[in-house]
Amino acid sequence: MRIGLDPGHGTAGAISGRDTGTAEYAPAEHELNFGVVAVLARQLEAEGHTVFVSRAQDPDFGRVFTPSARGRWAADRDLDVFVSVHHDGNDNPAFGGLHGFYDNEGAPNGKALATQIAMALCGTLGIPYSSYGGGGPACTWPQGHLGVLSGGANWAVTGAACLIECGTMTNAADRAIIRAAGYYTRAAEAIRQGIYTYAGLSPAVVVPPAPPAIVVVPAGFTEYMALYSRGPAVRELQRLLSAIGYRDEAGDPLVMDGDFGPKTLRGVQWAQARLVDLAGNALDQDGIVGPLTYGAIAAQALVGALLPPAADEPVDLGLATVATRSLERALWYIAHDVRERPMGSNRGGPGTGQPADASVNAILGRWFPNEAQPWCAAFVGACCIHAGLAHLPSWPPLVSSWRDWAQKQVTAAMPNGLLMDPATSRPRPGDLFLFGDRHIGFVVSYDPVTGKIVTAEGNFGDAAGTRRITWRGGSITHGVRLSALE
Ligand SMILES: [Zn+2]
Repeated sequence: MRIGLDPGHGTAGAISGRDTGTAEYAPAEHELNFGVVAVLARQLEAEGHTVFVSRAQDPDFGRVFTPSARGRWAADRDLDVFVSVHHDGNDNPAFGGLHGFYDNEGAPNGKALATQIAMALCGTLGIPYSSYGGGGPACTWPQGHLGVLSGGANWAVTGAACLIECGTMTNAADRAIIRAAGYYTRAAEAIRQGIYTYAGLSPAVVVPPAPPAIVVVPAGFTEYMALYSRGPAVRELQRLLSAIGYRDEAGDPLVMDGDFGPKTLRGVQWAQARLVDLAGNALDQDGIVGPLTYGAIAAQALVGALLPPAADEPVDLGLATVATRSLERALWYIAHDVRERPMGSNRGGPGTGQPADASVNAILGRWFPNEAQPWCAAFVGACCIHAGLAHLPSWPPLVSSWRDWAQKQVTAAMPNGLLMDPATSRPRPGDLFLFGDRHIGFVVSYDPVTGKIVTAEGNFGDAAGTRRITWRGGSITHGVRLSALE
């Protein structure tokens, strides 16, 4: 089949600025619509259908794309099925439920499609039908009101078009279901089932693929956090961890001091071991708080303390490998504003106003006594020495020395050495990235949707810092799988 999917909203409106859809509660409607469609499109494609999605990113506020323009977009694609995915909002918090809409002057089969999808959603999610049109799974709507359904005369020929409100975000009962773990996968599966029932296909013969990791930046997420991060975002994270039931060895909630120390790290890994993301995937227990982990913790905190308060259990701190210990040290240096003093010397020292740490000078100065070697390579070296890396690259420690060294490090898992091709690999926390012979730094995290990494590197003038850069197709020529070393 040719299937068109429209994640509602998320672009610029025709008159006003950002068309977010219902946005009183996080995630905003455009995010929810996009998350459901992203999972659904992948499933349908894997099953051999030709799938068109009206917008490829969320948000896409730079583009004007009105509902009627989306309708015309759909009409131009000669579709068998078109579904615009929405979540409803209402001024009355008692109003709730899900509903399908069709246009009785447009595509003739819209009613059957809307009805099948709404029935499947109701059965899967447990959200009742709303009271539109007197209740029931689907109703028609005055011509022109839902412009996405009336955008093209072509609908009258073959296609079936409908708009689905998957639930009502302003209703507390619906909201709890919409925010629960695995929601995107469950809603997508129901819509797919509705489409299949409408088309007379048997969903039983197909096996849905594993859902993709949908990275929707959740409300309240402002920055990546890891060991030694500091600031108000960490304080809020500590509050959320306590709210979902994390307690330390003594049975106490985390002190909200805004300092990401070992206790906060244990709390994050404790949560990562128990929560899944909105697509239902397990979280990496890497102790790093990115959008997926933050979203899962924040969503759990909103739903309530579903996790029973539990005394701390022995948790692997994730600092057992060279890569994680090195990365820990790199983040510590950055958090403590370690700088190259004097500039060009490759020796470290505490930044302005920071407490002195003799180990910085000792480590940097021991391995990098010479000037005119790249500070970025010195920074990686200092972190790896601190982590106890047994066999260091040969002297002098240039970026190319790291590449040559990586090639020779043969492990059971990597018989050809630790060098990775960014075109065919995904980095893990603590791996290294190289710009040819010019630059080197650590990978803090990798976002599979945007293809970007967060780095920890010593190349910000005389300082070390983090930034987001493209892993594949940008300046990165090699990766080093430091995480393969014990
Ligand atoms: Zn909407």
